[in-house]
Amino acid sequence: MISNTRLTTSLSKPSNSTQEDYELALKKYQEAVELNPKNANAHHNKGTMHLRLKQYKEALQSFENAIDINHRHYNAHNNKGVTLKKMGHYEDALLEFEKAIEINPKLLAAVLNKAHLLEDSDKYEEAALAFDQASQLKPDDWNLVYKKGYYLYKRGQDEEALIAMDKAIAMNLNYTAAHSFRARILQNFKKYREALDECEICLLLNPEETESLLIKGDIFREMGKVQEALKTYDSIIKLEPKNSHAVCNRHFLRRDLKKQGVIPREEGDEPSCVVCYEEEITQFILPCSHFALCEGCAKTIMKDTAKCPICRGKIAALQTTYCD
Ligand SMILES: [Zn+2]
Ligand SMILES: [Zn+2]
Repeated sequence: MISNTRLTTSLSKPSNSTQEDYELALKKYQEAVELNPKNANAHHNKGTMHLRLKQYKEALQSFENAIDINHRHYNAHNNKGVTLKKMGHYEDALLEFEKAIEINPKLLAAVLNKAHLLEDSDKYEEAALAFDQASQLKPDDWNLVYKKGYYLYKRGQDEEALIAMDKAIAMNLNYTAAHSFRARILQNFKKYREALDECEICLLLNPEETESLLIKGDIFREMGKVQEALKTYDSIIKLEPKNSHAVCNRHFLRRDLKKQGVIPREEGDEPSCVVCYEEEITQFILPCSHFALCEGCAKTIMKDTAKCPICRGKIAALQTTYCD
């Protein structure tokens, strides 16, 4: 899993503003609207206060009033989009952001709103393009370059994603997320030496950065360096006892070593399902994080007691993990 940091959008409210401030401002803008009903800005400003007060229907109406008076009111289009998104109308929201950008291509808030909407809708290619557009408007923001790279990677464009990560790191040498992402891409390219170096940079910046440790463990595993891989997964489990990736990979490695007779079987560290003793373990149990059941037995247990066979704790969810 690669971390996905959220960026701020428009209408971030000043921390010292309170509900009463908004209501007061709303009253003021209401008066302005009454004084001059043809003032698009007054309608727009009134809408922003409704939006902050979470009065979405009223906000929508105000932004529409503003747009009726001035079709090219890009802020009204942008904020109408924000309101529609809040109301769950994603397609319509996207259209409003695009209208705002069409009128004012330099409106960063609308470009960012569009980018976030696209990433929420899992439209990776378009999200990458939108973050690229945003980073051209705000060239000193390495987060935007990272985001572009992140969605290029999601699209399977590893080469382009690597270029973006290089750029993000050049902008901020201490950018841990970009370093570890770079390591993951290098691992995909099987450039293990370079990837491990990149992991070391991350771990120098933050010795408890589990993402880099995971990449390191996976690289050792792919290289057949079983002991190093085990040691790395162990260190992750020490930091995060419920890290399913580390717990499961450690299990598969130890299972193989037991099959080869390299390490003896220990109690509480079963090579196969603890219920049927036959099938391979594939079910990671949440929240206790025991890795002990095959798929079939897990299904039976869920219909029956829904309790973990090891700790007897209630099973909230199961996560299927196969050895790859
Ligand atoms: Zn079983
Ligand atoms: Zn358990």
